[in-house]
Amino acid sequence: MKQSSRINVNLMKDYNKQLVLRTIQKHGPISRVEVANRIDLSRPSVSEIVSILIEEQWIEEKSSEVKVRGRQPIPLDINKEKKVIIGLEIGAYSTKVIVSNLKAEILNEIAIEMDVHKNPNEMIEYLGNQINLITERYKANQIEVLGIGVGMHGLVDTEKGENIFAPNLGWKNVQIKSILEKITQLKVLIDNDCNSAALAEMWFGQGKDESNFISVIVDYGVGASIINNGSIFKGSHHVTGQVGHITIDPDGPLCSCGNYGCLETLTSETAILKKVKRKLKIGEKSSILNQKDNIEDLTIDDFYIAVNKGDEFCINITHEVARNLGLGFTILINLFGPRFIVLGGSLTKISDALIPIIKEVIQLKVMGEEAKHTPIITSGLGDDLYTIGAASLIVEDIFSLPRPNK
Ligand SMILES: [Zn+2]
Repeated sequence: MKQSSRINVNLMKDYNKQLVLRTIQKHGPISRVEVANRIDLSRPSVSEIVSILIEEQWIEEKSSEVKVRGRQPIPLDINKEKKVIIGLEIGAYSTKVIVSNLKAEILNEIAIEMDVHKNPNEMIEYLGNQINLITERYKANQIEVLGIGVGMHGLVDTEKGENIFAPNLGWKNVQIKSILEKITQLKVLIDNDCNSAALAEMWFGQGKDESNFISVIVDYGVGASIINNGSIFKGSHHVTGQVGHITIDPDGPLCSCGNYGCLETLTSETAILKKVKRKLKIGEKSSILNQKDNIEDLTIDDFYIAVNKGDEFCINITHEVARNLGLGFTILINLFGPRFIVLGGSLTKISDALIPIIKEVIQLKVMGEEAKHTPIITSGLGDDLYTIGAASLIVEDIFSLPRPNK
């Protein structure tokens, strides 16, 4: 009896400490009084916890900006100098490594070329050694490296810390977590890049003040992640969020997954570029042809430029893509009723042309008057979405509240 109440006191203390830290992370700069009001904890308790957090270098006191007479509340914020995180985005062609502070400010960034012919284990070992070279510099300056977050495409087993299948690299069951942990001696967390991107939105992006929303990424593939009550809805079998493989047209193109007419085959960058080339080759006219001498040399960036210049041919293709995305979004809204959907990935470069049409489809097809007006917004994290997402896996681990069964 005595022992269990002791455990409860400790758990409560941990919980409150975590609650204070999380509140300062999300809402800093913030005074002790404001923290106490937000989380309904007594001011002396908040002050006591704040002293510990300052000593442990999680947070720091900032100087008050407003200068008036009398005693000023001292704003508290995350200590940006003393603790950093590594974010690793394993891509098909190159892997990006960032060092970020706890406010998702990128302090250092390098790109490492991927050798697809190399054994995946060797490749991960190589990445681990490169990370060691980076972290040594921080450690030498008494800066604590809190861990490595890894985001990658395909199916990922987060518990085992291995990838199940990454089609663009051909990797299967690579023990990424254990290899990296052995080499770097740091905590490693791995997840699918859609999930990690959704965490980036939740901690640092459009979802900062929301606990129920969906993040959809469209670039070389299409994927979604559902944030439900402030955490990722994981489901079973590691397939949750594979919205890119919902069948939109059973007579459509063959997909990398083996099915026909998946959303991805109609809306991914690869699909768009294929369609552009095919149509141009049968004589359709477009100003995009001014950008390259040969149709085969056209890139997806040429397409984005042409759309934003108002090229009719490219805008028509964008609208077709948007209509198909609208069908996918309709399914997501009808199933999960998110507060909003945030669109990330390269296609956000043409979101001004995409989003009005996606909204039209949603208005026509979604059930319920309120849900028909579900906001569709664009991610503000741009090209850093995946790397900040990877780092956010560690942020989530640090700042999430302790759960009894964890
Ligand atoms: Zn598919």
